[in-house]
Amino acid sequence: MTEEFDTEIYYDDDADSSHIDDETVAVLGYGSQGHAHAQNLADSGVDVIVGLREDSSSRAAAEDDGLRVATPVEAASEASIVSVLVPDTVQPSVYADIESELDAGDTLQFAHGFNVHYGQIEPADDVDVTMIAPKSPGHLVRRNYQSGEGTPGLLAVYQDATGNAKEQALAYGKAIGCTRAGVVETTFREETETDLFGEQAVLCGGVAELIKAGYETLVDAGYSPEMAYFECLNEMKLIVDLMYEGGLGAMWDSVSDTAEYGGLTRGEVVVDDHARENMQEVLEQVQNGEFAREWVTENQAGRPSYRQRRIAEKNHEIEDVGERLRDLFAWADETETEAESSEN
Ligand code: NAD
Ligand code: MG
Ligand code: MG
Ligand code: MG
Ligand code: MG
Repeated sequence: MTEEFDTEIYYDDDADSSHIDDETVAVLGYGSQGHAHAQNLADSGVDVIVGLREDSSSRAAAEDDGLRVATPVEAASEASIVSVLVPDTVQPSVYADIESELDAGDTLQFAHGFNVHYGQIEPADDVDVTMIAPKSPGHLVRRNYQSGEGTPGLLAVYQDATGNAKEQALAYGKAIGCTRAGVVETTFREETETDLFGEQAVLCGGVAELIKAGYETLVDAGYSPEMAYFECLNEMKLIVDLMYEGGLGAMWDSVSDTAEYGGLTRGEVVVDDHARENMQEVLEQVQNGEFAREWVTENQAGRPSYRQRRIAEKNHEIEDVGERLRDLFAWADETETEAESSEN
């Protein structure tokens, strides 16, 4: 724990492995997070059993990685900790299958709070319900563990039936390498609502619309699509890399004074009070469950609107321009990715 932050941050020394050493963990799903949690837990000496459907294409991968594999029901029946790492949209149906395998005092462990927070999964009162959510995709959770570094993560306790839920979650976080880097305590509500708001308003939705709006503004004014692509999309990475390394300050320091003055005076013209009011509305729909209901209904209906929107996005002119330009230019990134993958 440190005192520099309002939130509590836990490190290896705050976690006691004895809370997980003698447990069996069922890891349901072997995708991005599942493969990383399962292998890190196993390498930390924890007994792991991966739960996958009989016909799952991930079975071979988990077995090749030296892990025991069973069906989700068998795995949950054997385990005292069930880590639910199938996609969020399929978690409710997988949970319905394994629910009866949870004994009093067992733990349901999540990496995202959506289903519990919005009542799509309603765990019995006698189980612990916890979250360790690495703030990285799974391949980095695995790679950082192997290299001796860690991956920062979030910890939350939704239900503490045993009185021991937090200690055990910390031990789980230690076993997958998160407490090496630091684990921040939050709640299921805060993790879920900030995650949804962030990806909708800023990260995925906000950024994609900002890029398309900038691109369209330039192209509609007669500038070339290639120039618009470079200026509004390609350069985004350079700017974000600077922010990632040193916050907004590093970005402002690095761009020209002209860019800094123009950005400081014109940015707020674009993201004005109206945009902020819209953000407020998006946040309210996250908070009052309207977005969650819409998404659950959309999935139940077979994703008709989602499909349509995906197609429309794919057909946006900026995607064609980008594909052509990425073929013509050797992106610095490609060599980086090649170098990274050849390390493994
Ligand atoms: P994923 O889509 O990568 O993998 C899911 C795995 O579940 C599949 O590989 C498969 O093994 C299994 N699966 C798929 N459909 C199934 C079905 N119908 N029945 C049974 N098993 C099925 O999922 P993910 O991205 O690792 O997400 C798992 C959890 O981790 C989610 O709660 C997600 O929100 C959370 N999370 C993900 C990330 C990330 O970067 N990917 C980061 C933090 C938290
Ligand atoms: Mg059990
Ligand atoms: Mg997120
Ligand atoms: Mg998310
Ligand atoms: Mg420029």
